[in-house]
This record gives sequence, C-alpha cells and structure tokens, in this order.
Amino acid sequence: MLNEIEKYTFGVGDRFAQQARPQLRACMMALDRGVCVNPVWNKSHREHLIVGTQPPSVRAAADEAVRALQWQEGYYVDADHINLDTVDGYLDTSDFFTIDVAYAIGRKAEPSAVDALVRAHPELIGTIRIDGIDEPIKTTRETVERCMGQFLFAVQEAGRIYRHIRSAKGGEHFVTEVSMDETDDPQTPAELLVILALIASEGIPVQTIAPKFTGRFNKGVDYVGDRAQFSKEFSDDIAVIRHAVAHYGLPPGLKLSVHSGSDKFSIYPAIREGIRRFGVGVHVKTAGTNWLEELIGLAEAGGDGLGLAKEVYSKAHAASAALCEPYAAVIDIDPDRLPSPREVGSWDSSQYTSALRHDQSCPEYNPHFRQLLHVGYKIAAKIGDRYYRMLDECEESIARNVTENLFDRHIEPLFLAT
Ligand SMILES: [Zn+2]
Repeated sequence: MLNEIEKYTFGVGDRFAQQARPQLRACMMALDRGVCVNPVWNKSHREHLIVGTQPPSVRAAADEAVRALQWQEGYYVDADHINLDTVDGYLDTSDFFTIDVAYAIGRKAEPSAVDALVRAHPELIGTIRIDGIDEPIKTTRETVERCMGQFLFAVQEAGRIYRHIRSAKGGEHFVTEVSMDETDDPQTPAELLVILALIASEGIPVQTIAPKFTGRFNKGVDYVGDRAQFSKEFSDDIAVIRHAVAHYGLPPGLKLSVHSGSDKFSIYPAIREGIRRFGVGVHVKTAGTNWLEELIGLAEAGGDGLGLAKEVYSKAHAASAALCEPYAAVIDIDPDRLPSPREVGSWDSSQYTSALRHDQSCPEYNPHFRQLLHVGYKIAAKIGDRYYRMLDECEESIARNVTENLFDRHIEPLFLAT
C-alpha cells in the first residue's frame, strides 16, 4: 500500500548527524502551536561521500531522536538525490526517495515513444483551462512534442529507479519524490503539466515533485530573483498539480517540493500564501544550514569552541577553490568580500556569530563568509574526533541555535505566520 505523505513535510538533517533532537524539537514546537510539520531527515549522497558516512547513520540518528523526544507523528529518512548508481546503499534504511533525474533532461528518448505519447494525450494540445490560473495554457502539437522529447527520457529514467526501489523494498510503502531542480533552466507550469502526464503514464506514484523554479536558490542564503514571478509560478504550479491529480490519477496528496529551501526568507510569504490559497501541502528541504548553526553554537560558546570555529574558517579559506567546486552552480562568493583568516582570528564570539548568522538586518552579516563555511564542512569532517568532541562540549549553545533557527526563521514564517 502506498504510504501517503502528510501535508507539511520539512527536510531536516545535518552533515554530521548530531542535531536530530534539536531539529525535532522545532517540529514539536510547531505541534504545540497546533500545526503538524513532519520531519524528513535527509543527507545527500554527495554529503555522505564528503563526510565519509554511510546512509544507515541517518536512520539511527532519526530513530534515536524520535524515541528520546517521544515524537508520535510520522517522520521519514530521505535517500536524497539518488539515481540508479547510488540508490542501493539507501534501500534498507530509507522510506523516502528523492529520485534525481535532472541530468537526464534533454537526453533523447525513442522517437516512436514520443510519438505514441503525443497521440495518447490530445488534451495537452490547444487551449488548456486550469482552475486557479487566470490565463489558459496554450500549446501546439509541436510545442508538446518538443516538451515530451525534452523530458521523456528523464521520466523513463525515474521509472526505472522507482521500479528498482519498489522491487527491492517489496512493496510501495515509501514516498517517491521526483526532482529536476539541479539544472539551469526553470520548468514552466506548462512544462510541469506535460511532465506530470508523462510521470502518470510511466506509472510512478509520485508524491512530491521538485521542479527548478525561476531565480537562484543559492546554498544557505536568501533567494535571488524576481519574487513576483516566483510567486505566480509557484501558485500556477500548484494549480497544475491539482489539475494533473484529477486528470491523470496521480496520488491525491501530490505536492511541490522546494529544494535548497533553507534561508529563502524573501519567498516564504509567497509559499505560505500559495499553499493556503489552495489548501495544499508542501515539502521544504532545509537540511544544509544546520551545520552552520553548529558553527554558530561553537563560536557562541567561546573558548575552545570559538577557537575551533576559527580554525574551520581558516582551513576553509585556504582550500576554498576545492570546497566550492562541487557547489559551483549554487553558490555565489566574492573572494574580495571574504575576511582574512587573520582578521577572523582576532574576532570575539559575537563578531563571528554576527558575520555568520543569517540576519540580513545585522550590518555585520557577511553572506560570502557564510557561503564559504556552508561548503566547508569537509574541513570539520577532516578534523574528525576533535570536532565531534567539541560538539558535545558545546551542546547547549548548539542545540539552542539549531532549534531557534529552524523554528523562528523557517517553520514559523512558512507554516504558522498569519
Ligand atoms: Zn535538490
């Protein structure tokens, strides 16, 4: 039986799998306010490789936190951005799979298959009225054919991965997400409609879908782009999903997934308004920046904690080219705006935390410093035991910052604000 996903799900997790409890505490605070936000612990394959950890460690940390805090609601462990080459290590311990097929967009599918699908979907050609969108979507046979040609191979690839997971898990008791976000070109609502029709034909019971939205979703910093356009696109995407659920028999709870969703404070009002207006759910991934809250907690603790936070920066600064390389498409760092390690060496706790904490009203906040540290977790991984020991020593300030960040800056504005 299909494991139907809850309305509001929230991607959490952290590089070192040490903050599951303070993350869960933020969800409990939401529950106290009457809104259930179900946590989805995720850690991408890339993060596992860089930190040198195995997928079962995420399950262990999640289960432990759930037991310790007696969380009674649903929660998930996400195999984040997997494909056929990487999924096997996640099969035993994940119950949520983010099937990433962005790399397959544009690859050529069998022309006869495209042809057959165009013929099978005459309703996609012409003027399509969608409840909730003012202007009807207008297409021609050519535009639909081109769009199917662009996405069919990727959807077929998602189907291959989905079926592989289903046969390995021996059933459908897991959540399937299809993600196409890690690509340069945003998908329009009209393209999303075609993609969903293809996904339905492929027989994938998709429950969350992560398109590439307009604008930049850089890691750990605010949204950069046209907010009005994002707002319209987000709302139109929801309308398209509702239409596709009704017409193609996709799971009724199918919802949008916003990747790199942490810290996109300026579009949270648009997300909140969109989901409220349509009465639908959303999945927002935020995992990445919890590691920065660890650094803030270390720095705030002063003494050796602050010393270690400075050491991480100094080493990250020296290795910045290599650290930034895997994230080149999703960061935007001006090296001239980075403080020198020497300067940071002279900072006190409050100077370090003010530069790092994502408070745009604070004049000392430095997004370049923040982004470099964001991709700098490999340094902490290399420091190894000494880093983990310091996390224990500074547990109070770290846990407080992790919970506050998730609740005050993310959950509250997304799900609770009126
Ligand atoms: Zn993603």
